[in-house]
Formats: sequence, structure tokens, C-alpha cells
Amino acid sequence: MGLTEKINRTDHLSYFEGQIPVEYVYTYGLGLEKFFRAIKDKGQFLASRCKACGVTYLPARSFCERCLGGIEDTVEVPGTGSVYSWTVVHLNMDETPKEEPAILALIDMDGTDCRFMHYLTGVKAEDVKAGLKVKPVLKAKKDRVGHIEDILGFQPV
Ligand SMILES: [Zn+2]
Repeated sequence: MGLTEKINRTDHLSYFEGQIPVEYVYTYGLGLEKFFRAIKDKGQFLASRCKACGVTYLPARSFCERCLGGIEDTVEVPGTGSVYSWTVVHLNMDETPKEEPAILALIDMDGTDCRFMHYLTGVKAEDVKAGLKVKPVLKAKKDRVGHIEDILGFQPV
């Protein structure tokens, strides 16, 4: 294949195999950085409350999705909540069976107007019910890096 190639037959496409190294830096933004830093450093759940309309967001964010106003204030919330909905995951991303099924839940977070999606731990799928009270399980402080996986999951209170 030359530098330019006109494709006349789709059954004779050419291609290269190889790797293109791509480096990138992902930033959380102002609100999410506060949220993940509080989890990492203090094991706290930080929400943000819009003064204009009173909505409390978790994770914390820097603007209100309802009125689009800026939000600077953060408020600590307990990190507890109640299960709103859930599903049981039996396959890995590559469609191989999981060793143990995982329970992924949508959790109404106490003190906020938001739901949080995360894994349930320490409970069998058949024992999960809507309204089940749960609390977060965090990695040990020395192992936290400021990532959603610093939260191992939520377990029944
Ligand atoms: Zn607002």
C-alpha cells in the first residue's frame, strides 16, 4: 500500500497491525475533585448544595444541573443510603462467567437528591430488597488513590 490508496474492492482491504502509544491525563473537574479528595483523605462523602434551588448533589459538582448556577458550597453527607433498584451481574466484560455474581445497585443517598450506582457487598442477591439500608465500605486509607474504586461497595447497615 502506498501513501494514498483508493479502495475499489472491499474484499481486498489492507491494514497495518501495531500499537500507537497514547498518553493522556484525565481530570475530574472542580466538583468531582473535591468529592474524590474527601474520600481519599478523610473517608468522607462530600455533596454540593445549590443555594438557588436547594438541590443537593452527590458526588459534589461545581454547577447545578437544574438552574445551571455555580455551586461553591460543599456539605458532608453520611454516605449511607437505601437500595432503590439493583441487578445481578453474572458475566465479565469479555462475557466469561464471573466467579461470583456481582450485585450492582442504584442507591438513594441519604441527605442528597441523588442516587449513586455501585456494587453491593456482604449480601446475597436473594436477600436484597428495595429500601435495604446500606453503608459504604472503603479501602484502607493507605490504599486509596482518589478513584471510584476507593469505594469497595455498599453493605447492609
Ligand atoms: Zn440550582
